Amino acid sequence: MDYLRELEGKRVHDHLLYKKSMMMSKLCERRVWVPGPIIVGAGPSGLAVAACLKQKGVPSLIIERSSCIAPLWQFKTYDRLRLHLPKHFCELPFMSFPSNFPTYPTKQQFVAYLEAYAKKFDIRPVFNETVETAEFDDLYGFWRVRTRGSKAVEGTCEYACQWLIVATGENAEAYVPEFEGMRDFVGPIMHTSCYRSGEPFHGKRVLVVGCGNSGMEVCLDLSNYNAQPSIVVRDSVHVLPQEMLGSSTFGLSMWLLKWFPIRIADQFLLLMSRIKLGNTAQLGLIRPKVGPLELKSLTGKTPVLDVGTLAKIKSGNVKVCRGIKRLTSHAVEFVDGQVDNFDAIILATGYRSNAPSWLKESNMFSKEDGFPRRPFPNGWKGESGLYAVGFTKRGLLGSSMDAKNIAVDIASHWKAEAKQFMAFTCSPLPHYSKQDERDHAQMKEEKKRKICTTK
Ligand SMILES: Cc1cc2nc3c(=O)[nH]c(=O)nc-3n(C[C@H](O)[C@H](O)[C@H](O)COP(=O)(O)OP(=O)(O)OC[C@H]3O[C@@H](n4cnc5c(N)ncnc54)[C@H](O)[C@@H]3O)c2cc1C
Repeated sequence: MDYLRELEGKRVHDHLLYKKSMMMSKLCERRVWVPGPIIVGAGPSGLAVAACLKQKGVPSLIIERSSCIAPLWQFKTYDRLRLHLPKHFCELPFMSFPSNFPTYPTKQQFVAYLEAYAKKFDIRPVFNETVETAEFDDLYGFWRVRTRGSKAVEGTCEYACQWLIVATGENAEAYVPEFEGMRDFVGPIMHTSCYRSGEPFHGKRVLVVGCGNSGMEVCLDLSNYNAQPSIVVRDSVHVLPQEMLGSSTFGLSMWLLKWFPIRIADQFLLLMSRIKLGNTAQLGLIRPKVGPLELKSLTGKTPVLDVGTLAKIKSGNVKVCRGIKRLTSHAVEFVDGQVDNFDAIILATGYRSNAPSWLKESNMFSKEDGFPRRPFPNGWKGESGLYAVGFTKRGLLGSSMDAKNIAVDIASHWKAEAKQFMAFTCSPLPHYSKQDERDHAQMKEEKKRKICTTK
């Protein structure tokens, strides 16, 4: 805690500077010391970890780039979206869904639940600030988190904290692949994050690229609005019914895994799917060689839970196409040589983590995919007070597990150090001049020399 004593001296020194800077224009840079952890992202994962920390008496600060909680659900999802999994698998720690909500709540209900959750735990994120960089300061032993405000909150801010929790999610940025001739196509090309409903596509020929849960559901929606959807199925895919034997397929899978080896559980799921859905390969949806649960545990690839699209494929209302070779002004050429005309293209091509773009660290997070390197269930903890919540590829259940682990871990340190940290609550972060840093380095050197000579 040496650096805290040093900071205290510097804080007194910089107090006038801070006051002055606060009085200056909105564009002025602010510096804020945060006594507890900083959580980046106010999605379900960020809220869950803030609530778990609060339950343990640890204050935290959430920084969110958007203007509200859970913007992915509020602004980037289609109207007909419901939770894909039954509600009791999606609840956050310490608060169940209302009993009058259906098994699969609508997105509006889910957002209402999250708002009630934030209210219950008095979670008040800082909105409209995007974290541009976060870096561990080796010299002083804390994280420096630099943000830039959006139009509503102009200027930059530097926060400092001892613990940093990455809650920016697996779906931070829409992934848009490049296709040959993409610029030649005259119709609209949009990502599913911009798709709301099939209404504007009435009577139009629409190509949906990607056959995950979103792609399949968008096809169903388009068909319900009397569009003519086709879906690109490039790879093999497991489609399972959403319910089996009167229970959710997800719940049944969890139960099977408790009692049977993964391969037996997979065989059972595949048999039930065959009985309920028939041979999906005949529809152009070839199953992978590895079973759905094993594939999920090996690669994180989620099976598609059918909500009605398969029936549309069987009836010919949704057409299955192979991978895209190139686009032309009004048509798409597929790898099997088929060419079809389309009015619009919707990319259900998923999302990417954005952690590598702002987190200046490469031990815990992979620069390639922006996920923690350590596999589940150990990916939540890094070094120097760095944590990750919501990167397990296990949905909200995974977020809750991470959130609880993180809170227990931080609380154990917090209790020991709380007294000293509370002295810094809401205090401005001192600014260190190059001279300060040189002095500090010199002090450290002298200390080292002394230790060596006494030895
Ligand atoms: C269509 C869809 C349906 C899903 N359905 C289910 C389901 O039924 N059940 C289930 O368990 N899971 C489901 N999931 C998966 C997952 O549970 C959700 O994606 C969930 O929103 C993840 O929460 P999160 O907080 O980790 O990430 P997000 O909800 O993406 O939240 C991350 C937050 O970080 C913010 N952020 C990102 N970068 C920055 C930055 N640099 N600075 C500041 N803020 C930043 C974002 O604005 C965002 O608010 C679904 C996902 C999708 C896309």
